[in-house]
Amino acid sequence: MSVCYSKPGAARYSVRWTRTGWVVIDPAGRIARDGGNSMAEAEQAAARLQRAADCKVKVGPRACLCCGQTFESVGLHNRLCTSCRSRGDGGLPNSFSFAGATGRRLA
Ligand SMILES: [Zn+2]
Repeated sequence: MSVCYSKPGAARYSVRWTRTGWVVIDPAGRIARDGGNSMAEAEQAAARLQRAADCKVKVGPRACLCCGQTFESVGLHNRLCTSCRSRGDGGLPNSFSFAGATGRRLA
């Protein structure tokens, strides 16, 4: 294994079995890639996405996952605009419920 994780401990991709096959789950708990039949294939895809994410942390304007308003993100973990973050975790959209159902809290 010679996978270059430039930022160990940063946002991680994972693989998970679902009804449609092996999927890659992104650090935000969303499906980044789906429909794979092989776990090894999914893990390779996850490693590729991980490397891309590690080498290119998203900084700059992006749409808030909660209200859709554009705001200035400071990184991959920064998915909600200031007003939504200050509101806390209440009233999250479905994508967050999906992440929460796995037991992972990403906020
Ligand atoms: Zn918002």
